[in-house]
Amino acid sequence: MQQKMQHVTILGSTGSIGVSTLDVIARHPDRYRVYALTAQNRVEELAAQCAQYQPSIVVVGSAEAAQKLQLILRQQGLHTQVEFGAAALCAVASAAECDCVMAAIVGAAGLAPTLAAARAGKKVLLANKEALVMSGPLLMDAVAASGATLMPIDSEHNAIFQCMPAAYHLQHKRMPSQHGIEKILLTASGGPFLHRDINTLDTVTCAEAIAHPKWVMGRKISVDSATMMNKGLEVIEAHWLFGVPASQIEVVIHPQSVVHSMVSYVDGSVLAQLGNPDMRTPIAHAMAYPERIVSGVAPINLIKIAQLTFEAPDLVRFPCLKLAYDALQAGGSAPTIMNAANEIAVQAFLDGRIGFRVIDQLIARVMTALPSGPLTEIESVFEQDQRARDVANSFI
Ligand code: NAD
Ligand code: MG
Repeated sequence: MQQKMQHVTILGSTGSIGVSTLDVIARHPDRYRVYALTAQNRVEELAAQCAQYQPSIVVVGSAEAAQKLQLILRQQGLHTQVEFGAAALCAVASAAECDCVMAAIVGAAGLAPTLAAARAGKKVLLANKEALVMSGPLLMDAVAASGATLMPIDSEHNAIFQCMPAAYHLQHKRMPSQHGIEKILLTASGGPFLHRDINTLDTVTCAEAIAHPKWVMGRKISVDSATMMNKGLEVIEAHWLFGVPASQIEVVIHPQSVVHSMVSYVDGSVLAQLGNPDMRTPIAHAMAYPERIVSGVAPINLIKIAQLTFEAPDLVRFPCLKLAYDALQAGGSAPTIMNAANEIAVQAFLDGRIGFRVIDQLIARVMTALPSGPLTEIESVFEQDQRARDVANSFI
């Protein structure tokens, strides 16, 4: 059957998810064409991507970066349109020429363009979990109002999507109990410090924190994995994507990262999705759904893996996980505040300004200092986000 060509915008194309997305696209030139690429400032890489994928538009973070990129592109004889800034990001995410948007900017900077894509009714491939954590009900409402399709890219959420009953998917108009869903089992590798002497955690270096044992990812999410705030963000993400309350989302440590998550049903069945830890699998799944396409990922060798182990998370070692459950419980803007404090804390740690254990202490202090307020419109999300950043910076 002849495929309709999908025109794709990749927000954050130079990042770990962006590069994996382009790798999948390169395997299927008959299905996907790149409409727009965006990145903050790595212009040489972006120029190389432009040469290979020939997008119509490319967006960078500043006028200076745009000028530099323009120069390189002209030297290569390319006439790609170059834009910069937040408004241009929203424009390429909502343009009539694009069908599908990979939301793979890291952190709060991704919210506005992701929301623009949702409001424009696009197929939104959501890697940027922070956007959903910050604005949960508002982003989900925008998706419902426009008829956009939201597909989870986070490997755990993509796994859960695959283990959900076909009728459920993301239109959870009926509660999980009506579909026989008992709980979601969200797996976590435990990161690089799962078994490290807990008394030495305050002296870990940035290099140790970003050396994830199983996944190769951007720096921010790698630190989040080391504190397990990443899993905390994912609990909140699962709550909004699947309409499941916190009490029915259980985190399970699974160091091999082969089982990407599970759904447990009332009849005793537990469905799991397994695979090698490579983001091209969830990306290809979400891009082609409901079809299956080649992703470049090899099948798992169960004989070689031999052992799959599971254990309970230790909330003393990983206080960030508890902070996230607390934020979800508190509701309103508590997750927005927690996410903003975490972004400031992680950047301060990466810059060598605070120690590793100060990350969770700082987030807890900001959450105590700023009580949760209502999230009525998107402006209040940005206000609460900024307020939490200011308070976190003042504490540092
Ligand atoms: P990364 O740091 O490798 O890439 C981030 C991308 O965002 C880059 O292209 C960068 O140029 C762009 N960017 C950064 N700041 C920006 C700003 N202020 N404005 C515009 N663009 C900006 O990050 P990543 O690991 O690819 O992660 C991207 C998102 O996907 C994150 O939200 C992360 O939590 C999520 N995610 C990543 C993985 C993974 O395996 N890497 C897995 C699951 C979810
Ligand atoms: Mg994940």
